[in-house]
Amino acid sequence: MPARILSGKLIADEIKVEVAAEAARLREQQGITPCLVAVRVGEDPASSVYVASKVRTAAELGLLSEHKHLSAEVSEDELASLVEELNSSNDVDGILVQLPLPKHINERRILEVIDPDKDVDGFHPINAGRLMQGHDAFVPCTPAGIIEILKRSDIEISGKNAVVIGRSNIVGKPMAMLLLQENATVTICHSRTRDLPEITRRADIIVAAIGRAGFVRAEHIGDGATVIDVGINNVSEKEFARELFLADDLEKRFAAIDKRGFTLVGDVNPREAVERAGAFTPVPGGVGPLTVAMLMKNTVKAANMRRFKSENVESGNVKK
Ligand code: NAP
Repeated sequence: MPARILSGKLIADEIKVEVAAEAARLREQQGITPCLVAVRVGEDPASSVYVASKVRTAAELGLLSEHKHLSAEVSEDELASLVEELNSSNDVDGILVQLPLPKHINERRILEVIDPDKDVDGFHPINAGRLMQGHDAFVPCTPAGIIEILKRSDIEISGKNAVVIGRSNIVGKPMAMLLLQENATVTICHSRTRDLPEITRRADIIVAAIGRAGFVRAEHIGDGATVIDVGINNVSEKEFARELFLADDLEKRFAAIDKRGFTLVGDVNPREAVERAGAFTPVPGGVGPLTVAMLMKNTVKAANMRRFKSENVESGNVKK
């Protein structure tokens, strides 16, 4: 039986409705409108699209949002000062610094300047440490969104074998921690892992966060496994697209390549995954939409926690 397609788009829409309702409640009952500030440096085209989408979504859900765009020449100290200013502004609930930053700026230093209580991307080491220790934390939006996809699709996590391919600080590692908190038995794989297919074939849940188009193939997937595809890769060769997509999808993919020079492909070969997996997330329309939805959820959580100093605010993030 072909795999069930898990629509991240529908789940993200559900979460956005919940966030908008919470924002309205805060506005009506407390006179507060949560505020997200996105800081972007330079002219990276992908960053420009991502930030525009985050700021637009915030406005659609009734949050305040501001986009601070700095020139690529800004110094590290100037950027750090801006973040400090946002930290001390009582009107700002969430701060995100869009990555990547220009090479002359030390990303780690800037991320560490962000007040952990306004760190809605969840990249600050304090939040990473809280997550590691199983305490309430701001969790990076992509892995937090994947947990939402699994739970809202009634895919059992507890007791299951989960394999995460990739160990980045923004996806792989926090993903593994969240799956562990949900009582999965977790294996983390990376570029030095030996005999990857043998390990991933035993998984009930595979999360692929590698950055290589169509890398996960039939040989990696055990029958009926849930496959979560985090990858976002541009494919411009039609011959390669032919290996990845079935006829009905292929037309659309060729049209995209003709129109803008590439089509978006995940880290999983969907043509092979659909035959083996029990369920999988498509690209686009799978994990991607959750990332923005969870950022909005984190912003409302930040407003609730900071303004009411509450430790027990309902959140999308795991709490032990
Ligand atoms: P990253 O920092 O480049 O990490 C990639 C990971 O994949 C590394 O841990 C690397 O291992 C591992 N890897 C590379 N080649 C491998 C191989 N042959 N076998 C096994 N593991 C291998 O990437 P990232 O930031 O985690 O992102 C991963 C993908 O997700 C990218 O396509 C990115 O665009 C996408 N992404 C999507 C979203 C979204 O919203 N949907 C959000 C974030 C990222 P080593 O550590 O050994 O090098």
